[in-house]
Amino acid sequence: TERKLTDLEIAQQAELLPIAEIAAKLGLQEDEWEGYGRYKAKVDLSVLERTAERPEGKLILVTAMNPTVAGEGKTTVSVGLAQAMNRLNHRTVLALREPSMGPVFGMKGGATGGGYSQVVPMEEINLHFTGDMHAITAANNLLAALIDNHIQHGNELGLDPRRIVWKRALDMNDRALRQVIIGLGGKQNGTPREDGFDITVASEIMAILCLAQDLHDLKEMIGNILIGYTYSNDPVYVRQLKVQGAIAALLKDALKPNLVQTLEHTPVLIHGGPFANIAHGCNSILATKMAMRLGEYAVTEAGFGADLGAEKFFHIKCRKGKFVPSAVVLVATIRALKLHGGMSPGELHTVNPEAVKRGFANVEHHVEMLRKFEVPIVIALNHFYQDDEEEIAVFESLCQSLGIEYSIAKVWEHGGEGGLELAAKVIAAAQDSPARLPMLYDTEQDLRTKIEAIAREIYGASSVVFSDQAERQLKQIARMGWDRLPVCMAKTQYSLSDNPALIGRPQDFAIHVRELQPKLGAGFIVALTGKMLTMPGLPRMPMAIGIDLDDQGRITGLS
Ligand code: ADP
Ligand code: MG
Repeated sequence: TERKLTDLEIAQQAELLPIAEIAAKLGLQEDEWEGYGRYKAKVDLSVLERTAERPEGKLILVTAMNPTVAGEGKTTVSVGLAQAMNRLNHRTVLALREPSMGPVFGMKGGATGGGYSQVVPMEEINLHFTGDMHAITAANNLLAALIDNHIQHGNELGLDPRRIVWKRALDMNDRALRQVIIGLGGKQNGTPREDGFDITVASEIMAILCLAQDLHDLKEMIGNILIGYTYSNDPVYVRQLKVQGAIAALLKDALKPNLVQTLEHTPVLIHGGPFANIAHGCNSILATKMAMRLGEYAVTEAGFGADLGAEKFFHIKCRKGKFVPSAVVLVATIRALKLHGGMSPGELHTVNPEAVKRGFANVEHHVEMLRKFEVPIVIALNHFYQDDEEEIAVFESLCQSLGIEYSIAKVWEHGGEGGLELAAKVIAAAQDSPARLPMLYDTEQDLRTKIEAIAREIYGASSVVFSDQAERQLKQIARMGWDRLPVCMAKTQYSLSDNPALIGRPQDFAIHVRELQPKLGAGFIVALTGKMLTMPGLPRMPMAIGIDLDDQGRITGLS
């Protein structure tokens, strides 16, 4: 058989429209966008004021079952679905996340979709794009530098250098920077203290960028960031350093959503990219709102699986943005079904309908969990051209017995054309969506109750075990009056539990909360479970080894 083109080859062969045409298609006025090169633009926030009185388009969330390490195709299906909806003459705008260079050079690769359902220009979006990641990194590190400078010059606030919670950030998987000692070399070189780096997508600045409603809100949220404690145990906030304005200044352009296109010229707003395993995992509220104002439908994604992605999308993003999604698309693949059916990652290409059947328990859990939010659900089987017919038939009959809408989406192979049935089903489902979104916890509940609600109702856990440290932090957070905030769970994406080895639909398991981190700027409390770290490492064979630049300046091997 002839070799299939790689994602990058397809992307490089694509004929892109000048970004002005995409902006016009989106209904933007000329003074509402500025070009970043030929195929990228930043959209001014004034669009939201101009369109304030418009009825909003319907919001479609694309999420997934628990994935394999490769990812099950949320972005690919989102792109294919939006392309298909446009083919059916429904103006649809995508609102997606910005890729991080961690996975691009690490294990998972880029985040621009795949096959004939991609966002372009692929290399640029996956590498420096319009510089948002760099701006967020700089804003994060400006604050870090200002904190150490404050200590250097007399430490008027009495910050205890041993209790600074603000870390430095870098958009790279670099395990050697998880714990560092800074300020060595004597009096002129700062005060020695233990510090550490988070990956930029886990930075609170990224969360703030994604949750801010406007520039005013951005500045206020930055001012509320907790940076540490004094020698007498009082919290210290950014606003006490009076630097929220300077930090916001670095984010002036980064706060504007980025406009690009799909291979079929569907407009895409790519903006904000927190990871869903260690952060809240949703693109920005501003870009989502813009997509809803400019489209009849807005398609957005949250993952990894629905246990992390959809949960935080509903409880954190929809709560703050006052969004009520009209439908949820749950992406499944035959390979992930087989993995959850007990097959080892190396043998997923061999035919095994029994494993598909066993692995379906994972999908079933996600469907039952999503039903609690009363949003119509459509399952999309992201079809791989090697998928076996008998395995697909097993999947179909299981969906039928669950009484759930589903579609076999061939969007990777055929673009929008391969997702027409899915699009029709999503549009039909979105017609009778409820007017409100139920929340499975109330922010007014105490922190322990909220975490237990997520563990039980979303993950299917039987209990939550708090470490001694987490128990102490529960008390401290309550004492400070910070416990009336939503929770941002940090958990492995591979399992419904906090143990990546527990595949399928684990029963009778406990969730282990190791540490709680108040993110008072973003407005949530992070609960770190299991072994989750906020700075990933690179694998033995990083993607970087396959990436190259030829003598003509063309990038190869990016995926
Ligand atoms: P997610 O958004 O869920 O992480 P992606 O859409 O980024 O997943 O897809 C992950 C990877 O899998 C991409 O490299 C993509 O090219 C590939 N992929 C997705 N769907 C298919 C498919 N149907 N056939 C082959 N490869 C696919
Ligand atoms: Mg994705």
